[in-house]
Amino acid sequence: MVYKEYGSTGKQVSSIGFGGMRFPLPHDHDNGIALLHAARNMGVTYFDTAPFYCDDQSEDIVGEALRSLPDSDMPVYTSSKSSENDGNDFRRSLEKSLKRLGVPSITFFHIWCVMNPEDWRNRVKGGAFAAALKAKEEGLIEHVCVSTHMSGTQIARLVEDHPEIEGLTVGYCAINFPYRRKGVVAAHTAGRGVVAMNPLAGGLIPQHPDTFRFLQTPDDPDVVTAAIRFLVSDPAITVALIGFSTPGHVEAARRAVEPFTAYPEAHMEELRTSIQRGFDQMCTGCGYCLPCPQGIPIPQFMDIHNYMQLGADHEEIAGRFKFHWDLTPDQADRCIQCGLCESRCTQHLPIIQRLQRVAGFDLTATP
Ligand code: SF4
Ligand code: SF4
Repeated sequence: MVYKEYGSTGKQVSSIGFGGMRFPLPHDHDNGIALLHAARNMGVTYFDTAPFYCDDQSEDIVGEALRSLPDSDMPVYTSSKSSENDGNDFRRSLEKSLKRLGVPSITFFHIWCVMNPEDWRNRVKGGAFAAALKAKEEGLIEHVCVSTHMSGTQIARLVEDHPEIEGLTVGYCAINFPYRRKGVVAAHTAGRGVVAMNPLAGGLIPQHPDTFRFLQTPDDPDVVTAAIRFLVSDPAITVALIGFSTPGHVEAARRAVEPFTAYPEAHMEELRTSIQRGFDQMCTGCGYCLPCPQGIPIPQFMDIHNYMQLGADHEEIAGRFKFHWDLTPDQADRCIQCGLCESRCTQHLPIIQRLQRVAGFDLTATP
């Protein structure tokens, strides 16, 4: 296992994190516990969970699994989250997470799912940020972190404005990295930990190995290895957070770091360039097309279109609608074809046409 400094916290964490968001269905606790133990056996020390994951059972499963770990000198670092705006609600949510995990303190506690700067201002105004800092003073949280879907520029600003934020968890992988690269580098440079969630693009990379074959070097046995090595080789990324569902997933992650040779920086740069070139007809999620006068969340719909373009099946595409907080196809149909977004798109994408395709997706169809 490769271990990295988590920002300036003085903690060394495993570069592969256990993401408790994809426990096997039905959420059988024994299988989930066995998965976490398998990850632990390969040296994982970073364990992430949250309320509502896996039918709201993830924190319970992670708590049970951690309590049943054999004694070891290896540290355990917990991570959980609260999306509450209100300070009192945030506190209640934190206390519930502590209870379910069965720990006196959570190592990395996140102000969860900050969508944009306005959302962040609401977390501050509502008291959530102050509640997190107070909980840290009381020893209930070791490090205050933020999990966000903001753009790279917005993340860089957040980091600059708030030295109290010690780490960030962001969606970041070989497909969407240009959108957040600036923020990830700024956070790392400013001494913050950076956890990359969704490193395999929600399973898209392993499910479409031919499309992503170009990620691989001759040393990589498969695309999963390459996609993980791409992140672990990046000094700006502290943890690649993987949602394991099967023992095979744990084994695949192990192959990516044992033995581990970091890609040289020149190769990383080459890879970044070819990823951008190879996906120049895909939305990078940069957000420059916004705002839309109809309030259409264009980057989210274009992300769904990316999956369609890659030949994702019905279930995967429906999963992307759900991932984007239950977007529905009819919301894409609100487009009045004013053309503003297309004139701003950095990739010169035919957004209107793509929105029409997404709007025509039948969420209820049986695959
Ligand atoms: S063309 Fe459609 S999606 Fe684009 S800005 Fe206009 S209304 Fe919004
Ligand atoms: S549609 Fe174009 S401008 Fe909008 S997020 Fe995607 S790549 Fe960026």
